[in-house]
Amino acid sequence: MTPTIAKAAYVLMAALWYVLRIPHERKARKTPIARDALDARERLRLTVSLTGLGIVPMIYVATGWPAFAARSFSPLAAWLGVVLAVAALVVFRLTHKALGRYWSVSLQMRKEHKLITEGIYSRIRHPMYSAFWLWALAQALLLPNWIAGLSGIIGFGTLYLLRVGPEERMLLDTFGDEYRAYMARTGRLLPKLF
Ligand code: SAH
Repeated sequence: MTPTIAKAAYVLMAALWYVLRIPHERKARKTPIARDALDARERLRLTVSLTGLGIVPMIYVATGWPAFAARSFSPLAAWLGVVLAVAALVVFRLTHKALGRYWSVSLQMRKEHKLITEGIYSRIRHPMYSAFWLWALAQALLLPNWIAGLSGIIGFGTLYLLRVGPEERMLLDTFGDEYRAYMARTGRLLPKLF
């Protein structure tokens, strides 16, 4: 494992994630929206997340900037990063499979939206966010640069902390007791252990 291979692994993870999403974007686009929460705050959250998980690391991979924040490269850490990247992609695939046309980039309720509680959603309420956390950790381990590596954790962390509450309120508003019961038997990012 070398820094170049680790950077290539990061780019490959981003490319595969993008390709994986294409059919779901198409399907979701065809499903009409009943309620949209894409306000200025949500747009800002999405921009911060995209900057941290995608734009900053891509600039780093392409140009080496910001060189002053370079850290030493650890092959072992990078291998762990590869493992987490693969895990992130697997979880992404499972979430899209289960959520189908109810998936959306922002907080939206679609027409005749159904609460999904099967597949990976049977134990975890926000597995797609679990996948993004895995992505952010993989990025930190793969890129030997403090800023480009940690920007994913900061960017996605901001989105996650500011969004998961409003998202659950929106789902509670829509599904009421059905969502309350679902919350009781699931964990947000990891399966509930007891
Ligand atoms: N937070 C989820 C989904 C992210 S996609 C996850 O991390 O896996 C965001 C959209 O998913 C939201 O607009 C919301 O309407 C929808 N959503 C979230 N949980 C859902 C569920 N259990 N069933 C159906 N739709 C859900």
